[in-house]
Amino acid sequence: LPRPLPANEPVLNYAPGSAERAALKARLASMAKERPDVPHVVSGKELRDGEAYEVRAPHDHGLLLATCHDGGAAVATKAIDAALAAAPAWAATPLEERARIFTRAAELLAGPWRSVLNAATMLGQSKTAYQAEIDAACELIDFLRFNVAYASRLAEQPLSSPGISNALELRPLEGFVLAITPFNFTAIAGNLPSACALMGNVVVWKPAENQSLAAYHTMRLFEAAGLPPGVINVVYGNGASIAGTCLARPELAGVHFTGSTTVFQSIWRTVGENVARYRTYPRLVGETGGKDFVLAHASAEVEALAVGLVRGAFEFQGQKCSAASRAYIPRSIWPKVRDLALDHIKQIRMGDVTDFRNLMGAVINERAWTRLSGWRERLANDPKAKILAGDGWSREKGWFCGPTLVELSDPGHPLLAEELFGPVLGVYVYDDAGEGFDTALDLVDRTSPYGLTGAIFSRDRAAVAKATTRLRQAAGNFYINDKPTGAVVGQQPFGGSRASGTNDKAGSAYNLLRWASPRVIKETF
Ligand code: GLU
Repeated sequence: LPRPLPANEPVLNYAPGSAERAALKARLASMAKERPDVPHVVSGKELRDGEAYEVRAPHDHGLLLATCHDGGAAVATKAIDAALAAAPAWAATPLEERARIFTRAAELLAGPWRSVLNAATMLGQSKTAYQAEIDAACELIDFLRFNVAYASRLAEQPLSSPGISNALELRPLEGFVLAITPFNFTAIAGNLPSACALMGNVVVWKPAENQSLAAYHTMRLFEAAGLPPGVINVVYGNGASIAGTCLARPELAGVHFTGSTTVFQSIWRTVGENVARYRTYPRLVGETGGKDFVLAHASAEVEALAVGLVRGAFEFQGQKCSAASRAYIPRSIWPKVRDLALDHIKQIRMGDVTDFRNLMGAVINERAWTRLSGWRERLANDPKAKILAGDGWSREKGWFCGPTLVELSDPGHPLLAEELFGPVLGVYVYDDAGEGFDTALDLVDRTSPYGLTGAIFSRDRAAVAKATTRLRQAAGNFYINDKPTGAVVGQQPFGGSRASGTNDKAGSAYNLLRWASPRVIKETF
């Protein structure tokens, strides 16, 4: 087992004429025509039970990509039973062998499978080649490799003494783990079930409906790497009935979740109600919403700040838990920062993700588009809001929301507190005379219930130190002079607290420990 940490997978640049660009273009063309009838995978077998639903490309909703089936309670029950049947053999499989399977998955993904997962993520989740490469290729490869490396370091043995030998065994949890994964990251979708399985657990995996195409190929990748039947079972469809079925089973041992705060809270409530029925206390690990901030000090470097705001807010269509969505900028530098940001926004190209010149694709589906355009309309009629940029909204071909910059005169405005999950950045301009910076620190800390990521831009070290202390609980990932997005596995373990989750840092030893139930064995001679 590898004890030194691996290197991060290099990001390919898909430059014109490159081999990776040709491979990806070819894959995009063939995948747009494949239209698989996506099966649930239960005990390694394909099932197509349940009402069919269509998966379409968000950037071109006329393009049908796949058909899936809503498995509901019936398939969920089969999946749980299959997982439990596979549990004893998987728990008895040595970590070395489990690690070999996920390492092989990483190698396949770094090689021939790279274009498969990238193309599925581009078409199904409307990511550009660059966004997909960072997510479906590099981040998922890193999750798989780093989890293996971290897992091999976990079982530190306790002390023994003359006549006494002590050992610590990292048992899997007793029962099955439910993994519920989001649409916005193929890497997260692959990581949540595989991290649990690496630690010896059996899993029922419920992918987001809008990530079904990439989830389907991710499961095929795990199988190609040699994952035995029943260890991960995938059920597509409506979350409420699949999750409800899982949460009602006494064998539920854990939930590994990334998604909305509301859904995670309802899972937590249901687990609470059922707590006396479970054989063991289920582990609840969730990464949920964010209202991630950028705070500028008057000493900030304005160009770096403007770039940080624009990239942090609009890359990935703002559909990141970590996206910059509220900013606090001092009045003394705001005119310069605003003009630079507006210049950058003008240069953003948005459109078909298979056109490699575009920087932004569409938002995920009609529901997201309708919700975001409702916000936009309210902001346009709000005397406390001034829309400084916001062109490019359209729904004819795809679900496009243009990068939108809004200045707010009220620091308590809902746009500075609620998560939108789209490319809309609210700015509050604070008065930097006197105690202004301290007031801004209070606003950052108190305005929103979340605590995921945040950034300070400042050349003044004392201001940085003050913010780092004052904002201790406001962000689980805190960035100094950089955008609050783009955490790299192994470098910035990712997660936050408050309404943003349980902060069990994806792709780290902290996370893996949640999927182990240690047993101590003492032997006397
Ligand atoms: N880890 C990603 C980042 O640092 C965000 C993940 C998410 O949106 O859930 O940007």
